[in-house]
Amino acid sequence: MKAMVLREPRVPLELRDMERPVPGPGQLLLRVKACGVCRTDLHVVDGELEHPKLPLVPGHQIVGVAEDGRRLGVPWLGWTCGECRYCRAGRENLCDRARFTGYDLDGGFAEWVVADERFCLPLPEGYDDHQVAPLLCAGLIGYRSLRMAGDPELLGLYGFGAAAHIVAQVARFEGRRIFAFTREGDSEAQSFARLLGAEWADAGEPPEELDAAIIFAPAGELVPAALRAVRKGATVVCAGIHMSDIPAFPYEILWGERVLRSVANLTRADGEEFLALAPRVPLRTTVEAFPLDRANDALAKLREGDVRGALVLVP
Ligand SMILES: [Zn+2]
Ligand SMILES: [Zn+2]
Repeated sequence: MKAMVLREPRVPLELRDMERPVPGPGQLLLRVKACGVCRTDLHVVDGELEHPKLPLVPGHQIVGVAEDGRRLGVPWLGWTCGECRYCRAGRENLCDRARFTGYDLDGGFAEWVVADERFCLPLPEGYDDHQVAPLLCAGLIGYRSLRMAGDPELLGLYGFGAAAHIVAQVARFEGRRIFAFTREGDSEAQSFARLLGAEWADAGEPPEELDAAIIFAPAGELVPAALRAVRKGATVVCAGIHMSDIPAFPYEILWGERVLRSVANLTRADGEEFLALAPRVPLRTTVEAFPLDRANDALAKLREGDVRGALVLVP
């Protein structure tokens, strides 16, 4: 099979001919129909997330078809131990020994993949393969972040990329108001955010106090900015797996029972809940598809922040 392989961090992926993987006990062999490209893939390729399996096939938003014809999604959470204190408490996203797709396990930048059947997610009908792929991480992490943000009337979204363009639709469906924070002068992202229901889209300080904020952009300086923008008692959620250092800030912007927290990974329950909700909204993804062998071009586009919606590879 053809696969795009990371030989070592900070080096472009290589197109390789590999043996088709053989499923072990409890695993399924899936023919990959589409695989989303996530900022986490970029963090792995760029060496910002350390100690990936090497060589590695990245990609953790996999839409595949099993040998029995079922269409399934393979997300980031690829395996958990089931025994540690987190697994036993229903917090498998925090499992001490978790293995992640496209990081510890070969992922979906390939024509075939094997995955633990227990961690494959049923996909909703009515979506093309490339349209449903971004729901598997951008959508899911955005959804988990929204649940962690409490019950805001006015929600701030920092960084309007793949995750925000999906979570904005969920938030509007739930009757919330949205302010979208973009880079200075990024009029394309601002008009895209307005198109998806943001009533304000700009850089800098918002015209009203926020009830909660979710930070998708991996820029630590957004943390004090968001804490300054939210009201007392509000939660600021950091949704990314990696962020640049957070600059020092005065205690008074955290004071007033403001909560700063991260969201890590996902649980299978999140996946089932969110993918069942998607067609009820109904969520629509804006996707740019690349052929598998152009994975490096897709990653470069993401690195430059030059993406409207989500990127997907199609073998
Ligand atoms: Zn991801
Ligand atoms: Zn565990």
